[in-house]
Amino acid sequence: MRIKLKNLLASITLLLFILVSGCQPASVLPTEKLILTVSIVPQKYFVERLGGDYVQVNVMVHPGQSPENYEPTPSQMVSISKSAAYVLIGAPFEKVWVDKLKTANPELLFFDSSQGIKRIAMIAHQHDQNGELQADPQSSEELDPHIWTSPATVKIQVKNIADLMKELDPTHAVVYQQNLDSFLADIDQLDQEIQTLLAPVTQRQFMVYHPTWGYFADQYDFTQIAIEIDGTEPSAQELAGIIDEAILDQVKVIIVQPEFSQRSAEAIAREIGGRVVAISALDYDWFSALRTLATTLAQSSN
Ligand SMILES: [Zn+2]
Repeated sequence: MRIKLKNLLASITLLLFILVSGCQPASVLPTEKLILTVSIVPQKYFVERLGGDYVQVNVMVHPGQSPENYEPTPSQMVSISKSAAYVLIGAPFEKVWVDKLKTANPELLFFDSSQGIKRIAMIAHQHDQNGELQADPQSSEELDPHIWTSPATVKIQVKNIADLMKELDPTHAVVYQQNLDSFLADIDQLDQEIQTLLAPVTQRQFMVYHPTWGYFADQYDFTQIAIEIDGTEPSAQELAGIIDEAILDQVKVIIVQPEFSQRSAEAIAREIGGRVVAISALDYDWFSALRTLATTLAQSSN
């Protein structure tokens, strides 16, 4: 009898402990901030829009650094270990580092925020002698990692991230859901705005140094022509070919971003009488970056 009572008391204590601490071992206490690590700055914006004051975000790649060849610093390795989850986006440097990070942080949850996004191919397009468009068979195998550059793909990501946040911090689940709803409404409004801006544009091709805007081009029926060839500056001969192509395609605008070289973009712009516009796809203000791109494309068609 005594033993049974003791067992009962132990069960009650355990139950109370579970009720107080929450069933999920990774959950945060109501007074603590939910700490998440992300790869790039736009993801920081996404998480902060969803979490407000309840979240703290570590960013791996800071503005001006390229996510293509980034390496985490020792202090960043420490911040990763203190977070509740690492929100992956599929940046090229993640492929190189994730295994190492997983070994160093066996308890840490690595969450793929790209679940449900249909990846598009990175197709470099070229013209043959007759001016026919041809897909480059060599690069058509590669999938485009820049999934944060279109409203459609970002809507999927922020829904995924909100689900993760609700699971890790159920105390604030209602707030996260409300913030998600208002975020999605703002994205829909941006989408409408971009559609209106781009509707009258007939010349639906733009040139970029680094092919960052593939998902934007895909959603709004544009063709993105990359200057960079396999991640490097084109040779003089290749540059001449790109200039011919830009003339053939009546390209008026070349988009560059601060993280990558602008030299060849300026050379092409001089030859075609076009202009170079700098827009960073790694800015915190995600809405502004997309709006600026849409406005630039709308203006350059006149
Ligand atoms: Zn890139």
